[in-house]
Amino acid sequence: MSEAVIGVDLGGTNVKAAVCSRDGKLIAKDSRPTDAENGRDAVLSRIEESIDAALAEAGFTRSDMLAVGMGVPGPMNWQTGVLFSPPNLPGWKDVPVADLMHERLGVPVFVDNDANVAAFGEFWGGAGRGVQSMVLLTLGTGVGGGIVVFGRLLRGIDGTAAEIGHLCVKRNGRQCNCGAKGCLEAYASVTGMLRTAVKGIEDGHETLLTTLCGGDLSKLTGKMISDAVAQGDGFAEWVMEQTGVWLGTGIGSLINLLNPEKVVLTGGMIAAGEVLFRPIRETALAQSFDVPGRRAEIVAAGLGADSGVIGAAGCALERLQTGGAPQAS
Ligand SMILES: [Zn+2]
Repeated sequence: MSEAVIGVDLGGTNVKAAVCSRDGKLIAKDSRPTDAENGRDAVLSRIEESIDAALAEAGFTRSDMLAVGMGVPGPMNWQTGVLFSPPNLPGWKDVPVADLMHERLGVPVFVDNDANVAAFGEFWGGAGRGVQSMVLLTLGTGVGGGIVVFGRLLRGIDGTAAEIGHLCVKRNGRQCNCGAKGCLEAYASVTGMLRTAVKGIEDGHETLLTTLCGGDLSKLTGKMISDAVAQGDGFAEWVMEQTGVWLGTGIGSLINLLNPEKVVLTGGMIAAGEVLFRPIRETALAQSFDVPGRRAEIVAAGLGADSGVIGAAGCALERLQTGGAPQAS
C-alpha cells in the first residue's frame, strides 16, 4: 500500500523534498540547489533527485509514493498546475509543471502557491494541528497568508484569496507595493516596521538603533530592532509595539470575518516574543467581537522552515482525497 506522501518546496535557490506519513508526520527530507540558471529541465531533474534522496532516507522507493504536492512561488493556475512566470525561475513561462512531473514520477502531482502550502502545513502538522479553522500570517519582507476553513484551503474562484497582507488597515495610509494605500503589509512586514522606525528617528527620537546602523538609516534591519529591544531600548520596544498594534488591527478583522480557532504567525519577527505578541493579542481582542475574540488563539508557528514541504504533502493528500483537480493520468 502506498504510504509516502511527498512534499516539494521549489525555491529559486534551493529545492526541498520531504516524505510525510498520511497523518502529517515528516519522515525524511532532502535539500539541494535548484540550479535555476541551467534551465527548466535541469530544475525538474533536481526535484526528481531530491524526491529520490528523501525516499531513500525514509527507506521507501518510488512504488511507495501516493502523490506529490509542490509549493511554488509566483502566479499560477493551481487547478491545471501551470506556472505563469515565476520571478525566481528565469526563463520559465507557462510551464505545465504538474504534468511534467507527473510524466517523470507516474503519480498524481499537485501544485499550490507557497503561502497557502505553508498555511496548510501548520494546519496539518504544526501549530494548527487538530483545529478546523486557522489563519496563517507570514511576516517577512511582505506579509503573506493562508486560510483554512473546515479543513480546506480558502482559495477563491481564481485561486487568489487570502492576500492578508493587503487588507486595508488605514484609509489613505502608507503606499503599498501593490499600488493601493494603507495595506497591512505597509505597516506590519519587516519593511513596514523599518519604515516606522526610520520615521521615528527622523522625528528626533533617541535610540540605540542610530548607533547600530552606523548612522545610516538605510542600513537598518529587523534584526537590529530585535537586538535593540533585547538591550532594553525604549524606542525599539515602541516600534515593535506599534507593529504589533497594526497586526492586531488586521487580525481583529480576520477574527470577525472567519471566527478561526487559531491565528498562527511565522517569520523571523516572531522571535521578539511577548513584546510583539502582547500588543497583537490586546488589539485583536479589542477589535473583534467577544465570542470569536476569546475563541481565537494567536500563536507562533510550530514547523519553522519545514511548513512548506509538509504543507505541500498535506495539500496533495487533501486534493487526492477530495478530487481537487488532478491532471489526467
Ligand atoms: Zn497592498
